[in-house]
Amino acid sequence: MLEVRNLTKVYNDGTVALKNVSFSVPDGEFLVVIGLSGSGKSTLLRCINRLIDPTEGEIIWNGVDLAKVEGEALRKSRRKIGMVFQHFNLVKRSSVLKNVLSGRLGYTSSWKSLLGRFSDEDHQKAMQALSRLGIADQAHKRADELSGGQQQRVGVARALMQEPEMILADEPVASLDPVLAHSIMQRLENLNKEDKLTILCSLHYLDLVQRYSTSVIGLRNGEVVYRGSRSEIQSMTDNEFKEIYGEDAERVGGGLEGNMQNSGGTAV
Ligand code: ADP
Repeated sequence: MLEVRNLTKVYNDGTVALKNVSFSVPDGEFLVVIGLSGSGKSTLLRCINRLIDPTEGEIIWNGVDLAKVEGEALRKSRRKIGMVFQHFNLVKRSSVLKNVLSGRLGYTSSWKSLLGRFSDEDHQKAMQALSRLGIADQAHKRADELSGGQQQRVGVARALMQEPEMILADEPVASLDPVLAHSIMQRLENLNKEDKLTILCSLHYLDLVQRYSTSVIGLRNGEVVYRGSRSEIQSMTDNEFKEIYGEDAERVGGGLEGNMQNSGGTAV
């Protein structure tokens, strides 16, 4: 269980990005965070893995307060939390394999990682992760030679190298076309269903939210303005969505063949 309690983030320039945000996420959920640009989604995800330091509040996960933990304990917690970014955050000039291996850094001694040395076992793991994402044949290409969808798969493979218990995905499909967006979302869904990973993912297309989330929170101006279950979000009308979200529902459309089966989501 992840429990976020009264989380507040004030940036140095005085911007209050999160105000007293509280919610809990049982293990194995696929929680989607919705909200307009600037509502605090990215700040929230970044506070959870401490890419940024919260100003106040608690983030309790596996008995540890992630908001305050430091040093080795922080390192240990962080390696169980994979991060997937909108713009992939790959080292463009490095090979795909090296990018994936870098997900292992939390497990590697610092001198080895400085030298870029990884064990045979790590190499095997990296190739397995790439196979799972369907891009093992791209392992030795430079990261920037891959298409956007493939680069995001590398991003997911890198997160998998951490053997994470939770994945935080910050608008993971915002830079992708509809088919690729569904393809990445389906891979995250597989990790959620098959590996029982907890997923926290920010999205802004209503059809993706309805198709993939098991629960939803809505943020507006740094505050939680909505909490809904899968069935609540699926029966949500465009008007209700607009009330929570602040703007008309957008849809990514598209989808893989058979993708919308049993989803009860918006027809595309
Ligand atoms: P979202 O992910 O929903 O677009 P963000 O978390 O990026 O929202 O931003 C929330 C608010 O915090 C916005 O007002 C944004 O301008 C502000 N913000 C984000 N990062 C910084 C920063 N490093 N310094 C100051 N303000 C920031």
